[in-house]
Amino acid sequence: MRVELLCTGDELVTGLTTDTNSPYLEARLFELGVKVRRVVLVGDVREDITLALREAAARSDMVIVSGGLGPTADDFTAECAATAAGVPLVEDAGTLQFLRERVAKRGRELTPNVARMALVPEGSEVVPNPVGAAPLFILRLGGCRLFFLPGVPREYRALVDGEVLPRVRAELEKRPGRTYRAFRLLRTVGIPESVLDARVAPLAAAHSRVVFGFRTHAPENQLKLMAEAPSQSEADAALAAAEAAARRELGLAVYGSDADTYPEVLGRLLTEARATLALAESCTGGLIAAQLTGVSGASNFLLGGAVVYTEQRKRAWAGVPAELLERHGAVSRPVAVAMAEGIRAACKTTYGLSVTGFAGPTGGTPEDPVGTVYCALAAEGAPTRCERFSIPGDRDLVRLFAASNALELLRERLLTVSAP
Ligand code: ATP
Ligand code: MG
Repeated sequence: MRVELLCTGDELVTGLTTDTNSPYLEARLFELGVKVRRVVLVGDVREDITLALREAAARSDMVIVSGGLGPTADDFTAECAATAAGVPLVEDAGTLQFLRERVAKRGRELTPNVARMALVPEGSEVVPNPVGAAPLFILRLGGCRLFFLPGVPREYRALVDGEVLPRVRAELEKRPGRTYRAFRLLRTVGIPESVLDARVAPLAAAHSRVVFGFRTHAPENQLKLMAEAPSQSEADAALAAAEAAARRELGLAVYGSDADTYPEVLGRLLTEARATLALAESCTGGLIAAQLTGVSGASNFLLGGAVVYTEQRKRAWAGVPAELLERHGAVSRPVAVAMAEGIRAACKTTYGLSVTGFAGPTGGTPEDPVGTVYCALAAEGAPTRCERFSIPGDRDLVRLFAASNALELLRERLLTVSAP
């Protein structure tokens, strides 16, 4: 099926607004096996919009148009659609009534410019907008069906999900030879992209219906699996087999899939284990606390944390003995251990997690240069575990990976203590 997208609006061609409507719809269509042929952006010029509509309709089976359906003077997409189809604009009685009730709820009268939103090209199918004012209308132009949607992303998405995609699906059902797709995103931490690729690449030969793709989003590396088959059940089965093989190969490095986020997954593990956590952060300066508290429900497990940036605060808030700091320096294994144990004791938690390191660009020692980070995990009834990491990259990256590596000590621990 040939599908094109057309977005209208001066803001889209003057650098003011980035077109986010198209990527949203492209991804949904691709999941259905449809690759969009072309995306066209047009400014608010009547002749240009009219011509773009005619051209797209001549090339396509479906065109999805966004923007210019509102009440303002620069909204004239319906007018252009009528011109392109050679029909007059007519008032849709249902929409007019809907608009009248909508303004009445806000204690206002229906103004002529709001009423304009009820004007649609003659012969259109009109579908109410569940989250806004301007309706969706569907118009035939030769062999092509054109869908006209408001540009406001929230309204656009609601109408795409509720009205456009079901019609696309119904149309696809009628056509033979369509491709069905199934997707899975596996999210990993702790393995570099090249290693991920090397470990997973040998699996591809045994899963010929699945495309293996990689994406880096520090500190994560993601494996994207896309199965293609002549039926949905075959695509689902091919995906499930490839996913199982990838998970076997990658083991605990896979922390989650699809829309999972690391803090959510870790939060779930802590909550299930009825465990509590306290943090002592030096070079991450509260980054770990910020990540964990970014998810609602963090109070179930996170009791508190301290940013212990100076030696004095390491002593006062994390109970690090002055003698350890003097003898080993703040960035050292004994201090990381003392920080984790001290904050755990101070907050009376199941776990205490600490980070101390040189984030750079200045600082460091010959033995522990910039990028050296010590992370420690103190746990109830177990010896404290401490790891040293050498993290390449700038200050932001060192801090990001320091937080990730510290949290990984905790995730590994939670997965191994709860394992049967
Ligand atoms: P309205 O009733 O708000 O006027 P409309 O259908 O006329 O709706 P536009 O006026 O074109 O839509 O755009 C409304 C808002 O949505 C604007 O803030 C605009 O920047 C934004 N918008 C429009 N098109 C897109 C797009 N393709 N991607 C992202 N945002 C968009
Ligand atoms: Mg508008």
